[in-house]
Amino acid sequence: MGDDEVLRIRNDFPILETEVNGQPLVYLDSGATSQNPLSVMEAEQEYYEQRNSAVHRGAHTLAVAATDVFEDARSTVAAFIGADDNELVWTQNATAGLNLIAYSFGNASVGKISGAAQKFALAVGDEVLVTEMEHHANLIPWQELCRRTGATLRFIPIHDDGTLDMDAAAALIGAKTKVLAFTHVSNVTGVINPVAQLSAMAHEVDALVVLDACQSAPHLPLDVKALDVDFAVFSGHKMLAPTGIGGVYGRAELLDAMPPFLTGGSMITTVTMEEAGYLPAPQRFEAGTQPISQAAALAAATNYLRETGMERIHEWEAALGQRMVRGLEAIEGIRVLGPASGIPRAGLASFEVEGVHAHDVGQYLDAAGIAVRVGHHCAQPLHRRLGLNASTRASTYLYNTTAEVDAFLAAVAGVRGYFG
Ligand code: PLP
Repeated sequence: MGDDEVLRIRNDFPILETEVNGQPLVYLDSGATSQNPLSVMEAEQEYYEQRNSAVHRGAHTLAVAATDVFEDARSTVAAFIGADDNELVWTQNATAGLNLIAYSFGNASVGKISGAAQKFALAVGDEVLVTEMEHHANLIPWQELCRRTGATLRFIPIHDDGTLDMDAAAALIGAKTKVLAFTHVSNVTGVINPVAQLSAMAHEVDALVVLDACQSAPHLPLDVKALDVDFAVFSGHKMLAPTGIGGVYGRAELLDAMPPFLTGGSMITTVTMEEAGYLPAPQRFEAGTQPISQAAALAAATNYLRETGMERIHEWEAALGQRMVRGLEAIEGIRVLGPASGIPRAGLASFEVEGVHAHDVGQYLDAAGIAVRVGHHCAQPLHRRLGLNASTRASTYLYNTTAEVDAFLAAVAGVRGYFG
């Protein structure tokens, strides 16, 4: 990709024409939420104009049409991440997906559980392993699971440059490890973890691997089978789709053996006053009315990404990320979190401006029309490890230009002078 193509891509994203504080918007907050192209908004509108109905229930024509949209969307999105249709469960977002997995493990750990579900049962003496770079969404559900089951939560530390300490990983992954849950790409440092290697290490000891693909599914080619993870989660709103939809990939035989998390309508076979039988996955995990129009929109988003090319998107963003880090390193009083320039990272950079609080940095940049994220980015332990409470994060996507990165760098260069 190059700037010419990006300029064409930008025509598909009307919001990028917005002016903010009298300046053209420079949107560098896609790591938090991305913008939607017209084709995605049209898919959602078309659904409401022509097919809106309840899925999997009615015998009437519209209900069948809605069900087709919903299940076709599942096939499209499943294929996008290398999964089979029955291996993708819709959720509200990645957070809901991680909670689904952790609560299902929790449900397998209490009461009378027999058969295949026992594989997910945790007890005192078992260990759940995460990393020090996790988003709170991939930390707190595991803390809660351990609190309820008596299992122990441990974490793989990071090096000072934000990369995972693989020697420590090798030492920590052992016979007691039942789950290894980690992020593919750090939402703070842009570090890309060696997923296949970590999966292999976990499988060696028969542990289950849960991948937080929130920052990878939108930005690089993701093949859950090639990476050999057992579960993966993602959020639609970070990959050109609306809010309210995300997904859990789970290996078919695992999903079929897991107890449900949420229970109620649409996930049962027969119900008596005493008990209920559950449908196989994915319906077993989709209690209640589902995000149908959002699924249609997410399918359109993955089509847009696929047609643009995930490898090309990744290369473009990585180049923008390197330009950003090089530029930030050249400004006095700036500390970039994570790997130095020249070392691979995703297309985002978090940084500290000496003597200026991240919120002030964010407001200063906003006055120049530049949208960034400030705070701890839902990764307090990682910030604490790196010796700070908050940082400013600029994150790119396929619609960002070189000129925008340069405008951002020029603005950051003025921050200390303004507040000094
Ligand atoms: N994991 C990572 C790495 C993230 O960056 C995010 C969102 O910022 C999440 C999980 C949670 O995503 P959501 O808030 O869409 O559930």
